[in-house]
Amino acid sequence: MTTRLYSHPDVLEHRTPAGHPDHPDRLKALDLALEHPHFDRLQRVEAPRASEDAVLLAHSEEHLWHVMRSMPEDEDDIRQIGEDTYGSVATLQAAFRSIGGAMAAVDDVFTGAADNGFVTCRPPGHHAAFARVAGFCLFNNVAIAANHARTVHGAERIAIIDWDAHHGDGTQALFENDRNTMVASLHEEGLYPFTGKVDETGIAGNIVNAPLRSGATGDQFREAFRDRIIPAVINFSPDIILISAGFDAHYRDRVSHLNLKGEDFDWATGRVMELAERFCQNRVVSLLEGGYDLEGLAESAGMHILRLIRG
Ligand SMILES: [Zn+2]
Repeated sequence: MTTRLYSHPDVLEHRTPAGHPDHPDRLKALDLALEHPHFDRLQRVEAPRASEDAVLLAHSEEHLWHVMRSMPEDEDDIRQIGEDTYGSVATLQAAFRSIGGAMAAVDDVFTGAADNGFVTCRPPGHHAAFARVAGFCLFNNVAIAANHARTVHGAERIAIIDWDAHHGDGTQALFENDRNTMVASLHEEGLYPFTGKVDETGIAGNIVNAPLRSGATGDQFREAFRDRIIPAVINFSPDIILISAGFDAHYRDRVSHLNLKGEDFDWATGRVMELAERFCQNRVVSLLEGGYDLEGLAESAGMHILRLIRG
C-alpha cells in the first residue's frame, strides 16, 4: 500500500489547561513511535492549511465565527469555548491544519496518489455538530472530509467508522438524515456523551451503533465489529471509508473503561482494508480522534498505521 501521513507542527501548538487529557505530548509520543524503521515506507506529507470556507462543509457560518471570535489573543491565555473545550492563540492554526490534512488525504486517495492515509488531527472532531463545540472538538474533521469527498470527488456513498471510546454524537447528528452517508460507531455505553444507543438508526438504517459494556475486552469489540459493522458496510457498498480513529478504548487509557489492546486496532484496521479493497479501490482515510494515554496511543495508533502500510 502507498500510505501517507499528514501532519503539521502547528497541531502541537493547540493548548489546553493543566491536567486536560488533550495534551500536545500525545502527538509527540506518536511521532516518536513512528520513527521506528517499520515506518520507513510511510510517506510524510505536510498538512496544508484549509481555508475558513472548508469549515462550512459541515458547520454554520455562525459556528465558524463564534469559534474564531472566541479565541484569545494573548500568548498565555487559554479560554473555555464550550464544555471541556478550550482554545489558545494557536488553536485555529492547529484546527485548520487538521482539516487541511483530512481534505488532502481524501484528494490523494481519489487521484491515486495514495491508497490510504492517516491524519494527526488535533483538536479532535467527532463531538462537534453543525452549530456546537463539545468534548474537546471545535470542527468536525471527519464530516468535513466526507462532504469534501462528495462535492469535489463525486463520492456518492460514504462510510464513516468511528471506534473512539466515546460515541461520535456530532458526526451522527450531521448525517442522521443523509441516507448516502453511513456512520457506524463502536463505543462504551454510559460514557460521555451518553448517546449512541442501538435504536438510534438514522434514516434508512444509515446510523449503526454498537455500544460496548464497561470493561469490554477485544473479544467483545471484535464480535461487535464482525456482527454489526461489517455486514452494514457490505450492505452499504461505500465509495470511500473514513475512520474516526480514537484510541482511548486502549486498556491503559483512563478516560474509558474499555480494555482493548494494540492488536485489536490492528485487527479492525485489517477488516476495514478488506472492505475497502472489495468496494472502493482501497480508499481509506483515517483521522485521529481521542487517545490520551501516551503509551497506549503510541502502541495502538502505531499498529493501526503499520497495518495501513502493510495491507
Ligand atoms: Zn474519545
